[in-house]
Amino acid sequence: MENSVIVIGGGISGMTAAGMLALQGLSVTLLEKEKETGGHLARWDRLFPDRRKASEVLDFAREGMKRVNLVTGVTVTDISRQGREFTVVINSPIPNPQSPTPDHETVLKARALLLATGFDLFEARKKEEYGYGIYNNVITSADLEDRFKLKKGILTSEGKIPARIGIVHCVGSRDEKVGNLYCSKVCCVTGVKQAIELKEMLPAAEVFNFYMDLRMFDRHFEELYYEAQQKWNVNFIRGRLSECAENPDGSIIVKTEDTLTGKPFKITVDLLVLLTGFVPAGSTGDIAGMLGLVTGTDGFINSADSHIMNNSTDIPGVFVAGAVKGPISIGEAIADARAAAIQLAIYLNSPTPADD
Ligand code: SF4
Repeated sequence: MENSVIVIGGGISGMTAAGMLALQGLSVTLLEKEKETGGHLARWDRLFPDRRKASEVLDFAREGMKRVNLVTGVTVTDISRQGREFTVVINSPIPNPQSPTPDHETVLKARALLLATGFDLFEARKKEEYGYGIYNNVITSADLEDRFKLKKGILTSEGKIPARIGIVHCVGSRDEKVGNLYCSKVCCVTGVKQAIELKEMLPAAEVFNFYMDLRMFDRHFEELYYEAQQKWNVNFIRGRLSECAENPDGSIIVKTEDTLTGKPFKITVDLLVLLTGFVPAGSTGDIAGMLGLVTGTDGFINSADSHIMNNSTDIPGVFVAGAVKGPISIGEAIADARAAAIQLAIYLNSPTPADD
């Protein structure tokens, strides 16, 4: 128990933080609900802005986890705190003969918790007017990454090479109708990256990005946007999509308004890609409820102070890292996880924590 830590969530933030904590000599258990670690990153083919392989980053994080006790395929069902000790109950679908508790339950103890439950992608079916789950040639950006990874080429559901591809920004973000006012931050640059990748694979295809604003917030992102326009002739149309319809041949009619010219714009594409944004992971609300942690109106967890205590919470011994606090890029998530690990280690090494 002495100096033991439980990290909840095995995406890039949880993996990075767990590895860093173990490197500092702490006893670390990482709990992941899926069978494998890696979270959304494991699904991605290449990363912005340099299009490096996502697997390289994942391999680096996995290498750092050699001293971490990894428990996958489990759900946290209860958390309680008594003084400086946390009790975490996990429920595994796999029977555990060593467990003293019934029904596949295991009870773990720790002196600190790090929450890294990450995010879910917005459920594109909620924007019914865009036709995801209704029209076969409407896919999400994550579906497109699956296709990039498979390296089998990009085809329509009818087996045709698409001549025109649309990419729709802000799906489920900055959208009052679905209750998500925030910007998901990384989907603009993902859309630009994916447009370039589509042009690399299908040079003859026309690619259209439908956007409200382009938020190229970090270093080398703006250059990527210029590259998309100047080298690859990607078209950028400013305007929010109003609705889609399907032609008998499976192609998609996209209706939007070009807000730069004020004119309605209608175009037919063979494939439509929806850039779905971040929403809080389903497990985040559950865990916040067990601990009595405050979430914002957006459902992401509020840290103790967004400037100077961004990895701490109002509960001593409970720390947060990565997208559990809101949209974040992979590079930022890694840096944030390292910062959280340092804060947590300082807390554990402090004999009389000021907040205890
Ligand atoms: S990053 Fe771009 S696509 Fe994503 S929500 Fe913000 S403005 Fe929309």
